[in-house]
Amino acid sequence: MASGVRMSRDYYEVLGVARDASDAEIKKAFRRLARELHPDVNSHDPDAESKFKEAAEAYEVLSDSERRAIYDRYGQEGLRSGGYAPNFESFGSVADLFDAFFGGAGGPFGDIFGTGGGRAAAGGRVQGGDVALSAEISLADALHGASVPVSFEAIEMCEHCHGNGAEPGTPIETCERCGGSGQLRAVTRTPFGQVMRAAACDVCGGDGRVPKEPCDVCRGRGRKVERVKLSVDVPPGIADGQQIRIAGRGHAGERGGPSGDLYVQIRVREDPRFVRDGDDLVTVVDVAAPLAALGTTVQVPTVDAEVELEIPAGTQPHEVLVIRGEGMPALRARRTGNLRVVVNVVVPKHLNRHQHELLEQLAGSLTEHNLRTDEGVFGKLRRAFGG
Ligand SMILES: [Zn+2]
Ligand SMILES: [Zn+2]
Repeated sequence: MASGVRMSRDYYEVLGVARDASDAEIKKAFRRLARELHPDVNSHDPDAESKFKEAAEAYEVLSDSERRAIYDRYGQEGLRSGGYAPNFESFGSVADLFDAFFGGAGGPFGDIFGTGGGRAAAGGRVQGGDVALSAEISLADALHGASVPVSFEAIEMCEHCHGNGAEPGTPIETCERCGGSGQLRAVTRTPFGQVMRAAACDVCGGDGRVPKEPCDVCRGRGRKVERVKLSVDVPPGIADGQQIRIAGRGHAGERGGPSGDLYVQIRVREDPRFVRDGDDLVTVVDVAAPLAALGTTVQVPTVDAEVELEIPAGTQPHEVLVIRGEGMPALRARRTGNLRVVVNVVVPKHLNRHQHELLEQLAGSLTEHNLRTDEGVFGKLRRAFGG
């Protein structure tokens, strides 16, 4: 930042986006990071604050086309010399910074946690934030569907004070620091001069009211972070990277607002035996060249077991045989993909004398009739390259 002492990482790298990422991609990447680094959730990670500041800095620059152009051409040095460098020094804590970005009026997108922009409105019902996490399953689980246990930290309402932050039986008073508005104005330097930003009041936390005697259990916050364990039902046919939304299982709302949602991104572990192509699975079997000529039966893996597959006489290298219905189920339709078996014709090597003689005899006996195919050059190439 302004001091120039700290070595900053590349902004694109920080957000995990390509250099030609669209505004929407940049915004999405930052939202995802911000969810993970939410200070209420990530209080156990000592690096969460610096990581969030880093992400916010990257977003501040890359979301502004003018600053992004300067950064692309001249790097951070260019931003500094142009007076465009992000400056978060005026924000005391990462929670303040967070609120400046997402909370109250003036945040670029108040709905990051599904709050509909009303996060800091004093006295209003505020929806809780969403929780995003990922869970890994096997290909067999993706085939059959599974119940996957997940565990995460979520903000829950404090049961001792029922969320109002006051020790039961003690009064709640108007916050003196913000006069009950729940917001303080923070001044930020920007390329366009000083800009006022609303940040949540550090005394009442945006509530506008403070308990005279804070709740012993939650120290007056009305909410506390708890580890939540639950099972997520993963439907058959899910693909790697798809997301499951569980309504109402995110962070608790404030002042009677509804809870946020839980988003679980499913990672399907790679199975070395298969490549997935939509609802189809693709595998390879090795067949010795003489057997491909004669025809044979081979064992082919399916996700759960093995099946027999007949290799017809005269099967050519890379020919694809289809086993119907042994692929993956379609996620939202009553159909199942196929298992496509690529035949890898293996030409024998290291022949002994006897084998050599046999093959010589065979080679000598072959005629044009044995080798003729109906395919042209393009057909053969297409097969060789898996088209
Ligand atoms: Zn206050
Ligand atoms: Zn409490």
